[in-house]
Amino acid sequence: MLQQTQVKTVIPYFKKFTKKYKTLKSFSKSNEKKTLKLWEGLGYYRRARNLLATSKILVLEHNSKLPSTFKEIKALPGVGDYTANALLSLVHNKPGIALDGNVKRVFSRIINKKESKINFDQFIEENKKKFFNTKRNSDFVEALMEFGALICKPKDPKCGICNLNKNCKYFNSSKKIKTIKKKMIKSKNYDVFCYINKKKQIALTKENKLGFLNQFSLPEIREAKKNIKTKDWKLLKKYKKSISNKKLNINLYYKFSNKIPSSFIWHSIDKNEEFIPTFTKKIFRQVSVLF
Ligand code: SF4
Repeated sequence: MLQQTQVKTVIPYFKKFTKKYKTLKSFSKSNEKKTLKLWEGLGYYRRARNLLATSKILVLEHNSKLPSTFKEIKALPGVGDYTANALLSLVHNKPGIALDGNVKRVFSRIINKKESKINFDQFIEENKKKFFNTKRNSDFVEALMEFGALICKPKDPKCGICNLNKNCKYFNSSKKIKTIKKKMIKSKNYDVFCYINKKKQIALTKENKLGFLNQFSLPEIREAKKNIKTKDWKLLKKYKKSISNKKLNINLYYKFSNKIPSSFIWHSIDKNEEFIPTFTKKIFRQVSVLF
């Protein structure tokens, strides 16, 4: 849940989730529909799917325990090098470094070399005797991440109170590397076409080609093209929406119709038992003004 998401946003979801599923076993018996409903609004829904798939594998193949080798942990759905290393050390107290943005910045400053110029695997391998000379690998990996977040911060690192400042090349150099990265945000234009009817329903389909909302219930959505012929579609609104690391400029069109393409299903705009992504819920709110 915490991947790309702030703690304060996650807390109510985490509480709701752990109240409903008290054990790994009970969660593993759930299904995608129920899991997504609990996750509704938290975004990055692939995490929910991966978590469910992982719980089933752990229960069925690993006796409800997290495996203890890097290879086995990394084979679980949605687990990459970072998560595998974090789990290996946090759960099993084995040597491993979870290389997140904070940790990379700390290493890069200590040797005063740009991140893009560092081969981090090689760097860890060369320094493994220093890093893993402890019986507290779990505390070490956590401390490293916290150190990056609280002391060796992206802006204004607290070098004056830092225990590493004597050996830190960044602190002791007159030519300090730049460590603040500019975020690249992509902006794209989309046309959204909503079929609606007099019963206050909207037609949604799961057959859309939007990678970041693939397999979710959406109206028809296409990348906007200039001079598009919208014939009997009426423009309701133009608005902006941020999703993951993208900025979307939306042109929202609607049409009252009782006929819809075969892959579409009518959904009530007011009541929904089923999981609806935040992107679509915003469309519901916009369309509601027509009733
Ligand atoms: S001395 Fe400053 S730059 Fe170096 S590790 Fe400490 S906080 Fe980071």
